[in-house]
Amino acid sequence: MRALQVDKGGRTRHDPRVRVLAAELAALEDAGLRRRLRPLASASDAEVLLDGRRVLLLSSNNYLGLATHPAVKAAACAAIERWGCGTGASRLIAGHLELHAEVEAKLAALKGTEAALLFPSGYQANVGAITTLVGRGDHVFSDALNHASIVDGCRLSRASVHVYPHRDVQTLEAELAATARGGRRLIVTDSVFSMDGDRAPLEALAALAEHYHSWLMVDEAHATGVLGPGGAGLAEAEGLGARVTVHMGTLGKALGAAGAYVAGARALVDLLVNRARTFIYTTGLAPAAVAAAGAALEVVATEPERRAALVQNAATLRDGLRALGLDARGDTHIVPLMVGDNRAALAFADALLARDVHALAIRPPTVPPGTARLRVTPMATHTAAQLERALAAFADAARATGCQP
Ligand SMILES: *Cc1c(COP(=O)(O)O)cnc(C)c1O
Repeated sequence: MRALQVDKGGRTRHDPRVRVLAAELAALEDAGLRRRLRPLASASDAEVLLDGRRVLLLSSNNYLGLATHPAVKAAACAAIERWGCGTGASRLIAGHLELHAEVEAKLAALKGTEAALLFPSGYQANVGAITTLVGRGDHVFSDALNHASIVDGCRLSRASVHVYPHRDVQTLEAELAATARGGRRLIVTDSVFSMDGDRAPLEALAALAEHYHSWLMVDEAHATGVLGPGGAGLAEAEGLGARVTVHMGTLGKALGAAGAYVAGARALVDLLVNRARTFIYTTGLAPAAVAAAGAALEVVATEPERRAALVQNAATLRDGLRALGLDARGDTHIVPLMVGDNRAALAFADALLARDVHALAIRPPTVPPGTARLRVTPMATHTAAQLERALAAFADAARATGCQP
């Protein structure tokens, strides 16, 4: 058989095996579901360069603006000088640096746990933790709107997966009560839901976990660095830290770096080191990211005004959008602006971008069908004048696209 010439664009287009892929993309396009990468020409900030224009960025999880904080950048540069650019191996081989241990200790202190473990990404942290804790014959109970990495962790675990309706603790309790004894049980939830900006009913979940002999795992990806008196997350904010078995969070959102952690009992962390395939079979998190996260934790502690500014900016946006008659939801720094139809959401986002505001349309499968939305996320570093400009653009764009109710 002759080898396929994959490097000559002209030929691959006529290859039937490539045409199958093009047809699938065309179907996505027809459904208003095609996604495209858009390169920014500048760092993640309140304003960014996109297609040669300066636009207000309202789609970033760099909530506190720490990705460009001078102390965070300096820590990353110093780490490269001292530790190099890459770790060169998985943590268990030769990729575990004292730097990792140092930042893991910092994270454990923040979370008030015995230990913490860094992962290269939140996706890997969730998949690794869930598949370590439960397996065939066990039960995992997962909120319907949990992040895709939790969904994938549940599937890969081979445990029986019980998906309960969003925040519905009554249905969850019925499921727990109806599940035969024997086998391990894990309840897993986002703390702040990434596309809805609402909060998990953690107190009720903790009580159910205790009553039904279940572990409770909380994904604080959107709350780490943001919520709680010390910035540890929603569990800290509600005084529930000690009742959570598995604390997970990311370093790439409010902390402005990259990577993630799982925190909890020493035995949990030691077991993850031995069993979590997404930890064992991957190269250790790069020094720059580890050091940046460590420095960001200090900024969170020493500059609480950033958290206050984020709360203020989110309230300004949410209230302003509602005053325009738009359906802005959530009760955190994530402000979903509900549209419904995929194409309408895309048209709204395009109209905004034409007015120099970048707020991305979020469509299925990231959100349930019929619930396309703009996910609007301010940063602590947006000024009042910038938000005013953004709200004027929302008003115009809503009128121009007929999205106004
Ligand atoms: C972003 C996110 C993750 C994944 O984290 P990464 O570090 O980006 O892989 C996990 N859970 C939730 C809720 C998230 O929003």
